[in-house]
Amino acid sequence: MTRLLIVGPPGAGKGTQSARITEDYRIPAIATGDIFRANIKNQTELGNQVKAIIDAGDFVPDSLTNDLVASRLKEEDARGGFLLDGYPRTLDQLHFLDEVLAAEGASLDAVIQLVVDPDEVVSRLLKRAHQEGRTDDTEETIRHRQSLYQRETAPLIEVYGARGLVLEIDALGEVDDVNARIAEGLASRGIVTPDAATR
Ligand code: AMP
Repeated sequence: MTRLLIVGPPGAGKGTQSARITEDYRIPAIATGDIFRANIKNQTELGNQVKAIIDAGDFVPDSLTNDLVASRLKEEDARGGFLLDGYPRTLDQLHFLDEVLAAEGASLDAVIQLVVDPDEVVSRLLKRAHQEGRTDDTEETIRHRQSLYQRETAPLIEVYGARGLVLEIDALGEVDDVNARIAEGLASRGIVTPDAATR
């Protein structure tokens, strides 16, 4: 049973590492942004409710987001563990998640924090924007999103840090190397892949 949360600034390779973790530990990723986008695409009631908010880059209200996650966590595939991505994002959400998990006698096992040098990540994202012709990604917007991330995540990291849950992972370098650092960090808390556990 592995209950994880991953956080990291735009450009830190969070998507890539998340995919690897869900494969290695055989747990589903629960990414609220992805769930919202899928609902918008399928024009569900929830999707219609949140479209304007998300288009404006604002936060979906905690009540909606919390309900969504609570019901997602009740699904069968999440009973054996999960990797949360993009949730919690506010202290209210963090406390709500605590309660949902506590009701099952559970709690998060670790918080994987991908750490990158801001200058390095800005130059990486600029290069990608240039290659992919994404003209909306200017240095200014990239720096803005980085600082938003810092502001958003700092209070959460503080709470989880005080609980001794945060694994600071150097996210610069090759995908495999970063993946190995994550595995090492998790192993230091007794969290191992199903393969390693049966070996
Ligand atoms: P993401 O893909 O995680 O960047 O999420 C895309 C958008 O979905 C965000 O900009 C928010 O509008 C919304 N969103 C995702 N997760 C949350 C959350 N935990 N709380 C509030 N809004 C969220």
